[in-house]
Amino acid sequence: MSFSLHGIAVSSGIAIGHAHRLSHTSLEVAHYVLPKALLPDEIVRLDTALQTTRDELTSLRASRPAQAAAEFEAFLDLHLMILDDEHISQAARTMIERESCNAEWALKVQMDTLVAQFEAFEDAYLRERKSDVVQVVERVLKHLSGQPGHIPPPASHGVSTILVAHDLSPADLIQFKSHQFAAFLTDVGGATSHTAIVARGLNTPCVVGLHHARELIREGDLLVVDGAQGVIIVDPDKQVLSDYRLRQSQWELERKKLKRIRTTRATTLDGTLVELHANIEMPHDVPEVRENGATGVGLFRSEFLFLNRDDLPGEEEQFEAYRAVAEGMEGMPVTIRTFDLGADKQLKGAERVASNPALGLRAIRLCLAEPQLFQTQLRALLRATVYGNIKILVPMLSSASEINQTLQFIDATKRQLDEQGIPYNRAVQIGGMIEIPAAALALNVFVKKLDFLSIGTNDLIQYTLAIDRTDEEVAHLYDPLHPAILYLLAHIIGSANKAGVPVSVCGEMAGELAYTRLLLGFGLRQFSMHPAQLLGVKQRVLTSSLADINPLAQKILRSDDPLKIRDLLSKLNSL
Ligand code: PEP
Ligand code: MG
Repeated sequence: MSFSLHGIAVSSGIAIGHAHRLSHTSLEVAHYVLPKALLPDEIVRLDTALQTTRDELTSLRASRPAQAAAEFEAFLDLHLMILDDEHISQAARTMIERESCNAEWALKVQMDTLVAQFEAFEDAYLRERKSDVVQVVERVLKHLSGQPGHIPPPASHGVSTILVAHDLSPADLIQFKSHQFAAFLTDVGGATSHTAIVARGLNTPCVVGLHHARELIREGDLLVVDGAQGVIIVDPDKQVLSDYRLRQSQWELERKKLKRIRTTRATTLDGTLVELHANIEMPHDVPEVRENGATGVGLFRSEFLFLNRDDLPGEEEQFEAYRAVAEGMEGMPVTIRTFDLGADKQLKGAERVASNPALGLRAIRLCLAEPQLFQTQLRALLRATVYGNIKILVPMLSSASEINQTLQFIDATKRQLDEQGIPYNRAVQIGGMIEIPAAALALNVFVKKLDFLSIGTNDLIQYTLAIDRTDEEVAHLYDPLHPAILYLLAHIIGSANKAGVPVSVCGEMAGELAYTRLLLGFGLRQFSMHPAQLLGVKQRVLTSSLADINPLAQKILRSDDPLKIRDLLSKLNSL
């Protein structure tokens, strides 16, 4: 039977293929009764999985690099303690014997009991520890299933495969760069979560916030995914399928046509040059940046070098990565952001430690709290500056004292390199991301102390409107056209321009065609986005006249009526 599902459109394009459901371990555990004779084997199976998990955690602990966060070790100790807690292991054994059930079920029941006990604690810290119990049990369940890790096999034999998951972390998704999935669908997630951002970077249709897709879609179901509308059609009939096949080929044709303007300079109709840069996650993204005609890398999210691994990238490894990007861009600007770990991008094994990660020890806060880690990255970055046009960008700055501390730290690292006779570009530019409302409102200090600014609209919107960007329950409140956001954007761009400090937008708004003219009208002349969005934005720039745009953009800025703002924006976009 054909039916449709609606979610949040995250990455455009049309995909047609068969569903592959990604299992979410503990959430779906089968219950079956075993013959008495098989119970001893079932207990051995449980004990083997417990021992494998214990070995895994112990070896993670032993391989902890010296500069890893101290929480990492405490976290592993806690997990080892939970694993050996008799309420988990012994209670599960007893349950297998008493109820003749399978090991997975026994573990799940013990986990639920323990989670309920933790939930009843008054102390918030103890209450939060329930997620550690779940994580430990998930690890054991993975070993029981004989499939540690939950990344599925790649698509096979030319049949398009569409991944249907409850949730995918940015770390999961980055591993799919080499897989050929035709689309990604998840039950949870917001439009500017890092998972969504990575999907866009993969240039693969993606719809998130579908709520019940994993329940409603069966393995192997034929699906049509419309990534632009956020619509999924399950088991489409012949007519729908052929309509979408046609739309799919038209979409591909459009993309091919856009390639013609790859080397055209991005100037408006009135001759103003606009820099269109690309956002990347890994050095191997550089060829795509070049293919799409970017004139620089505006945001290299360096924290992706730290994900999906048990150790940390050392100075040499980071240096090679930064140097590869600088050389690959052949003298064009390469803006490398110091690592923005924390929130939804956690080091492996350090997940869910903070009670409110988005407001916690994230980005520059984590760097300043872990000077060893920060220094390793800064040394690698500074050394790489000799090989191209590297600029350093610092995320999540919120105050003058944070800027001062950061600049002092960079100076100290420079002195260390001087003492060792190691060369670097002494004039390397240091910029700051404006993504916390406090930074936007107290912009003067940023303009005075930094060489350039880059507006992170994803976080600026998240923090200004107080909506978790990863939470689909509040995704409808995410509104780049909220008058407060428009005011902040116009204020940041206007103030930076007035002070002669270069400013760009590197959040998702920069790649959305609906906002290109509005941002041009606010005075923005530098955009940074996913390579796949670049040619579309360039075409929009080429067909825009600042003389026509500016008055309408100012009118939008002066309006506080949401409907009028939308109406004026559609006028602006149909000029
Ligand atoms: C942003 O916040 O807009 C941004 C570009 O940074 P990130 O999405 O990596 O948080
Ligand atoms: Mg950000």
